[in-house]
Amino acid sequence: MVSFELTPEQQALQQLARDFTNQHIKPWAAEGDRIPDPRRSFNWDIIRRGSELGLRTLAIPQEMGGGGADILTLCLVGEELAAGDLGIAVAFDQTWKYSYIIAEGMSGEQRARWLPRFMGDHECLLAIGFTEPGHGSDSFGLEYGPRIGMQIDARPEGGEWALNGMKHFISNGGLAKIYFICTRTDKTVGIDKGCTTFVVAAGHPGFTIGEIHDKMGQRNVQNAELVFQNCRVPDRDRLTPVGEGLKFQLDLAKASHVEAAATVLGPARRAYEECLEYAKNRVQGGKPIIEHQAVQLMLAEMNMLVEASRNYIWRAAIRNEYEKPFEPHYSMLTKVFVSEAAFRVCTLGMEIWGGMGYMKEAPMEKLLRDAASFLHSDGTNQVHRLKAAQLFGGLAAKYGAAH
Ligand SMILES: Cc1cc2nc3c(=O)[nH]c(=O)nc-3n(C[C@H](O)[C@H](O)[C@H](O)COP(=O)(O)OP(=O)(O)OC[C@H]3O[C@@H](n4cnc5c(N)ncnc54)[C@H](O)[C@@H]3O)c2cc1C
Repeated sequence: MVSFELTPEQQALQQLARDFTNQHIKPWAAEGDRIPDPRRSFNWDIIRRGSELGLRTLAIPQEMGGGGADILTLCLVGEELAAGDLGIAVAFDQTWKYSYIIAEGMSGEQRARWLPRFMGDHECLLAIGFTEPGHGSDSFGLEYGPRIGMQIDARPEGGEWALNGMKHFISNGGLAKIYFICTRTDKTVGIDKGCTTFVVAAGHPGFTIGEIHDKMGQRNVQNAELVFQNCRVPDRDRLTPVGEGLKFQLDLAKASHVEAAATVLGPARRAYEECLEYAKNRVQGGKPIIEHQAVQLMLAEMNMLVEASRNYIWRAAIRNEYEKPFEPHYSMLTKVFVSEAAFRVCTLGMEIWGGMGYMKEAPMEKLLRDAASFLHSDGTNQVHRLKAAQLFGGLAAKYGAAH
């Protein structure tokens, strides 16, 4: 039998996240969003409080001291946090997505060094670096070739690796204390065979933070340039066999696109809830606007898109966690569907609020700016469509895909 019933533990965590959001995130989100300098808007107090409740380490298995949440549970919590603020939800979610690397992707020796650093510090967030100024979509493996995909250089030198180059747009950049960096160790082949991934701590010699990007939405989390200048990383912090960095990250990305979808569902749900309330109270033409059929049509579409998105996310979460084989195209298309649905929902939301929808004193314009971010973040929707078709169409081998 197929059941959509959540376990008591899932319901409790969902409620905890909802209460936390109402108490700490919602009251502050709009204020943080209006801070002009992107280096000053991050709210560490929320991260610390959330971490004390166990939210930061939710994806780490219980036997390692974490919350042991499965992908569906992370999606439930992510939606709740993002209904308060998408930026804050992303700060937590990037950390959940890649704490899998610490829990499952590290050797025992590496885990013994990095897990305590992560677990023992309420401000320890994680970040992942794929994208570079000259290589964005290219790193998603639609085509493979020596000049296609990330080029940040990692060369072996006396038991160490010298990293030179730059990443940009990185979520949690400048906030995170632990970074996973995918580098190019062989430029004569494609990224499917020529990449290697390392773990690097914030402040490691040769690793600095460049510009903090000034963004349209998701303003309550930082995105930054990561700059590597002869950054010497010991070989013991190499996370993958040489040349297999991409496959490693794709394997661990089981949760990534689905959780991204769950977070962007947050602003969409919030837009729907705000609109329903507003439509009951705003009077035009002698009656609440909810009694106008044009407004009913928009509310019905919003409701439908939010529900369809949530069902898609839950299905993808269960499928990725419990069903074999793992098929990445399913999560890619989940992210595509939900991010476009969320953008549509927030656009309709602006319509329902009329002129007020455009004003910063009302919630809609922030929700729309936030929702727009996931049309591109986590990979563009066009590239995900094309990659998904390669995968389910059996074309991946022809293009040299890593899986
Ligand atoms: C809010 C936000 C957060 C992000 N966080 C991170 C992060 O934490 N870590 C990280 O590594 N990156 C991150 N990114 C980067 C993100 O993954 C890239 O922006 C994305 O992959 C697109 O790359 P690009 O910006 O270089 O665009 P480009 O690759 O230059 O794409 C430009 C346009 O061309 C299209 N296009 C490109 N190649 C093809 C092709 N082969 N076929 C058809 N169409 C194509 C694209 O779909 C797009 O429409 C983030 C981005 C944003 C906006």
